[in-house]
Amino acid sequence: MKPFQVGEFEVWSVIEREGPLRPPAVMFPTSDPGRARELLLEMPSTVWSPSTGVLFNTYQSFVLRSPRQTIVIDTCVGDNKARPPHFNYPKKTWLDGFTCGQVRLEQVDLVINTHLHVDHCGWNTRLVDGRWVPTFPSARYFMGKVEYNFWREQTARGWELPGRIWTDSALPLVTSGCADLVEMDARITPEITLVPAPGHTPGHYCIQLQSKGESAMFVGDLMHHPIQCWEPGWSSCFCVAPEEAAITRRRIFERVADTGTIIVPEHFPYPTAGRISRRGSAYAWDFI
Ligand SMILES: [Zn+2]
Repeated sequence: MKPFQVGEFEVWSVIEREGPLRPPAVMFPTSDPGRARELLLEMPSTVWSPSTGVLFNTYQSFVLRSPRQTIVIDTCVGDNKARPPHFNYPKKTWLDGFTCGQVRLEQVDLVINTHLHVDHCGWNTRLVDGRWVPTFPSARYFMGKVEYNFWREQTARGWELPGRIWTDSALPLVTSGCADLVEMDARITPEITLVPAPGHTPGHYCIQLQSKGESAMFVGDLMHHPIQCWEPGWSSCFCVAPEEAAITRRRIFERVADTGTIIVPEHFPYPTAGRISRRGSAYAWDFI
């Protein structure tokens, strides 16, 4: 991501994976192929491949640093975890991203997960001597109570992959006492407030940062590609409740459009952050 400043906070990202991933018809099952093509032809080749038609997605964590605090939002897929083969790409780049001099793992004060999908909570923990321990040893972790309980129930029902994720990346933090399970509209610090955004998952929220009159919103998986600003009704193939996700997307877009708020979606490729404006009955996206 292209780094930016919000009031007292420097914001940058640590990338785990980037590049082409899925075609629009797979990513957005209700999308119209002709409409998708028409919209993509107006977009830069950093967000899709004109030769193959495949969309580009990045997996990244966001680091927010003020003179008083260092905060990490979402923690990608993580390492040494029993995951499907396509998640088994090299993870060293992510660790190197933290150790390249800007911040050390032990300097992180807060970690916030927008939701508990595989690509958002993996580096919450890492494997040391056969045990899952916090990757950020000094941090307080914040996870949504609704989200945590939803995946706990799925785990109890025998859902295999969600069960593994919850068991190795969420449960150990609660058990060891370094996590808080919070409401979806909780205020985490004077500058950080959660904004409920259910649909992608039941407990999914966005994270609003406000400092010195400036604001940014980290929207997690509210959207996966800029194309959804023009077509907010297209939900991803990963949304637990696609129709609710679409309603939530419109509600959040309506709240932030034309306000100057910097929007930071988890999976948008470089430069990642941008702003939303109204465009007739839909919206448009401009990278910062
Ligand atoms: Zn995601």
